[in-house]
Amino acid sequence: MTDWLLTDIADGRALRIRAGRIVEHAHGLAPNGASVLDCQGGTIEPGRVNAHTHLYSGLAPLGMPAPSPAPQHFVQILERVWWKLDRALDAQSLRAAARFYIATALLSGTTTLVDHHESPRFIEGSLDVLASACAELGCRALLTFGATERNGGRAEGLAGLGECRRFIEKNTHVALRGLVGLHASFTVSDETISAAAQLCKDLAVPMHVHVAEDRADVEDARRRGYHDPLDRLLRLSALPPGSIVAHGVHLDEAAVRRCADEGLWLVQNPRSNHGNRVGYPRSLRHSSRVALGTDGYPAVMSDEEAALTLYAKEASDDEASVAARLHAGWSLLSEHFALPFAKLQAGAAADLVVRSVHGAVRHVFVAGRLVVRDGALMAADATTIRHEAAQQAQRLWHIMATIDS
Ligand SMILES: [Zn+2]
Repeated sequence: MTDWLLTDIADGRALRIRAGRIVEHAHGLAPNGASVLDCQGGTIEPGRVNAHTHLYSGLAPLGMPAPSPAPQHFVQILERVWWKLDRALDAQSLRAAARFYIATALLSGTTTLVDHHESPRFIEGSLDVLASACAELGCRALLTFGATERNGGRAEGLAGLGECRRFIEKNTHVALRGLVGLHASFTVSDETISAAAQLCKDLAVPMHVHVAEDRADVEDARRRGYHDPLDRLLRLSALPPGSIVAHGVHLDEAAVRRCADEGLWLVQNPRSNHGNRVGYPRSLRHSSRVALGTDGYPAVMSDEEAALTLYAKEASDDEASVAARLHAGWSLLSEHFALPFAKLQAGAAADLVVRSVHGAVRHVFVAGRLVVRDGALMAADATTIRHEAAQQAQRLWHIMATIDS
């Protein structure tokens, strides 16, 4: 791996990268055999973390037809849009979606994607498609398959968990991690949740799951005799410390405090929550372990941060600061990769964004690898990726039109 020396940084210092980490950030450093990258007076900052998203929806911005009839509530949005799209995916469309999504992320300075994947007609091997797109373009990622029973019952749930196990056991990539995944409490039986819990225990990895995104998830858990979906997952031992709980919109204050006590990460997704009209996650103020995610929206975190600021203000939530969410995202990564991420200090992961004096993303490093240089991807051509994505999108819309909701 190339050693790098970043020079002419706005703070007057230089920064040395070796073997995936920052090793020095000081004045007057000499190249000593490292490749020199002139930052031309620009600034350096840690790369952004998108703490909950879906690469599989990467083609959606490329002209996905509106559902008809229009959905009236959250479950209908799932049934008429996302549960049709995920059933239409195959290896080709998934690869195109992932590459397009990752390219957009890296070019905007987002260096880590915490992905939650579903493709019910293409389960085994699907995480390899995502992993190879991440490895090719150079993105850090946490990958999981969200096991569910909503199409094929228990067998489908076990196949999803099997894909998590297969990927976690074989993955050796330094910038990738596998997690155990469930779609959400309301689409799985207690038996599948218990099987997921056992898998977390066997492999010593946490869970990534949607929790209380909509009131319907809470009502389902109550019908099954639990206080809410968090209570259900915890009582079935499926949320080991470090697990990622996406949304939590309809968790009450006590449940959010319980998440913090159990060492769980919550993820707020402002644009998605607003777009799906599921409500504002008011209770999240009761944990400091709340990161920011885009839930399938493009991983341009400045857009998500602007949405957080806007919707938090509308909801009179003065606790939900962008800075707090960013730091939680870096802390989440530190737990999962056993490295510091938040500061430009010796020993920290070299996941860095160099901005020009005008603020534009110019160079991006992930795990010490230069993945964007002068605003262009190093490993592939962004125009070609977009062209292939547009072609696969047309194919995907055609297949979706043949699937009943
Ligand atoms: Zn999601």
